[in-house]
Amino acid sequence: MIEELKNLFKKHKTFDFDTLSPIQKNARGIPIPTKSMASLGCKNCRSCEEHCPTNAIYIHSENEMDIDYGACLQCGICVNACPSDKLENSHFNYTFSFKKEELKIKYRKGNFEPENFEIPENVLKFQKLTKNKGFNYREVAAGGNVSVECELNASFNNVFDSEGLQVRSVASPKHADAILFSGPVSENMQKPLEIAWDCMPEPKALIACGTEAIMGGVFEKGKTPKDPDLFIAGDPPRPDVILQAYRYLMGVYKFSFQKSLKEFLKKS
Ligand code: SF4
Ligand code: SF4
Repeated sequence: MIEELKNLFKKHKTFDFDTLSPIQKNARGIPIPTKSMASLGCKNCRSCEEHCPTNAIYIHSENEMDIDYGACLQCGICVNACPSDKLENSHFNYTFSFKKEELKIKYRKGNFEPENFEIPENVLKFQKLTKNKGFNYREVAAGGNVSVECELNASFNNVFDSEGLQVRSVASPKHADAILFSGPVSENMQKPLEIAWDCMPEPKALIACGTEAIMGGVFEKGKTPKDPDLFIAGDPPRPDVILQAYRYLMGVYKFSFQKSLKEFLKKS
């Protein structure tokens, strides 16, 4: 009884997505070059590249390194594999974009110049429909490892509160504005994904959620009905990252992956 009375006066713990940061200290986040790599270069031993399970990292020379954050699992293996501490876990985990290319960074002397990526026409149409009233989505589990589904389930609890952001999961694509798919799109799931996409009315959006959905992960990537409109990377992405990516898709949250990462590198 006393506990119940105390609960009445407790503040709610739901995330405030207006003030949430791309950097979460309790998440590993994406690997980035350290300051020492920027000033001294690295050994060019390629240990990071050899250990990466998804070939997300590519070393050209001691000063040139490409990382495809769309393929990156955020597992931290490359950081541990580096013998000279030239990589670190950044805690930066807002790895989402309307274009897969935006998630590819070419580091030169530990730095990069962000490119400008326009909002695609289809996303602009989708934003007109959803900015004020949110959207419904149908999830298609396309041969993945179910980790994305676990995080989607969590996105509806009262900490993350997807429905509070007006994003709801529905049982039929006929009632949906978007299809969110996870997994590498196995052969048997290509047709169901296509059927689900085809029976949705326009304007509509296709969301690739998780590394496997973006590039297959450790599997070969199957065919999708079209290029996705939103890519949410990570294996799996955290619920708060997924929800912030929805707000980005609706045009409620203004964000640029490359500009935001550049800003973070400048400050760190
Ligand atoms: S964090 Fe993991 S997946 Fe990402 S580049 Fe490093 S080893 Fe590859
Ligand atoms: S493991 Fe470290 S030193 Fe070796 S290539 Fe990668 S970043 Fe450079």
